[in-house]
Amino acid sequence: MKNELLLLKVCNNYIMDKSDSLNQFDEEFVCYFYRSFNKETLPKEKKLMTDTNIIEVTYSGEESVACEICFSLNTHRFDIRPGLSYFICRSCNHSSIISKSQIEDLFRSSQDKYFGENSSINLGVEGFLEKQGTNQRQAIFQKFFNRQLKVLEVGPGAGSFLRWICSKGHHVTAIEDSVYLAKELSSVLGCEIIVGEFEHCSLPENSFDLFCSFHVIEHVLDPRAHLELALRYVKPGGLAFIATPNANSWEQRLFPRLSPNFDSAHLRVFSQKSLRILAQDVGWFVLYEKTPEYSSAWLRVFSKVLRKFRGEDEEATAGKYQINQSFSRKMILGLINLFSFPLRFLQCLFKGGNEVFIVLRREV
Ligand SMILES: [Zn+2]
Repeated sequence: MKNELLLLKVCNNYIMDKSDSLNQFDEEFVCYFYRSFNKETLPKEKKLMTDTNIIEVTYSGEESVACEICFSLNTHRFDIRPGLSYFICRSCNHSSIISKSQIEDLFRSSQDKYFGENSSINLGVEGFLEKQGTNQRQAIFQKFFNRQLKVLEVGPGAGSFLRWICSKGHHVTAIEDSVYLAKELSSVLGCEIIVGEFEHCSLPENSFDLFCSFHVIEHVLDPRAHLELALRYVKPGGLAFIATPNANSWEQRLFPRLSPNFDSAHLRVFSQKSLRILAQDVGWFVLYEKTPEYSSAWLRVFSKVLRKFRGEDEEATAGKYQINQSFSRKMILGLINLFSFPLRFLQCLFKGGNEVFIVLRREV
């Protein structure tokens, strides 16, 4: 690349002025620069990126951003709809939302929308679709454990997995940021629920056998801190189960603009590769990986088509097409579930399911 670097800006409000501009740069240099900017002592490898996420480089009127996970500058901008764009890394396929300074606002508004008092999450009844995810998690749990555990779950949502794990007599601690959900969950399940953000909680270190974070890491402000803290709380030899949408899913590859993964609540979309890189960088050992596919992912693609067809705003109609519990809806779902089985099986087999599920181990 022989572009003139005019401005190098790091997302966490650090801005260099033009006097620091460079005539030429390459990816290695930017990584080097980035590290030296953030750390007094230079780390040996790229992996020691710390508390900031994205490097934005503006040169010759164009814009390029280093991948927040693998640091590659080989990224491109992808516009989903007005107000929602991502930078996608061609090297690891990780996507980061483009939001100049409003990442925190986006995080807050999505928390309120999905988990606030008017949330459509139903804690009383576990629907057909949630069951698929819970069954998958139970199966993976039983693959690795057959004893009583101390479990920490962050962001339990409607509490499907939490309910199951509590019912098995494990000692469970859950952390839920939404006051509304935490209250509901503790009254329904009777387990220990800490209200607050995981990153700001203080828990005893080296004390859990298992850390669970299902569809949380794509929402948090700092995914690296999320995995670092988890590593600290888990005992040596303990495991972490992390699930998140898959950037390499068939939904996203075939219909990127309709992908359920690109959502203003998702500050990033991991690929299997980018999640693995981040976990290993933090110090986890990757024990097991899978890309499950659930019927809900294609249903969400269809709901996006329906919204476009009806001219509805995605933000304003979030949750509108959530499947309710009526008999006819259950019948339709049952049929979709049955006929989509071969496709889902193939997606899972060829690493194209819409979820990345990774099992990590803290080395002894
Ligand atoms: Zn990357």
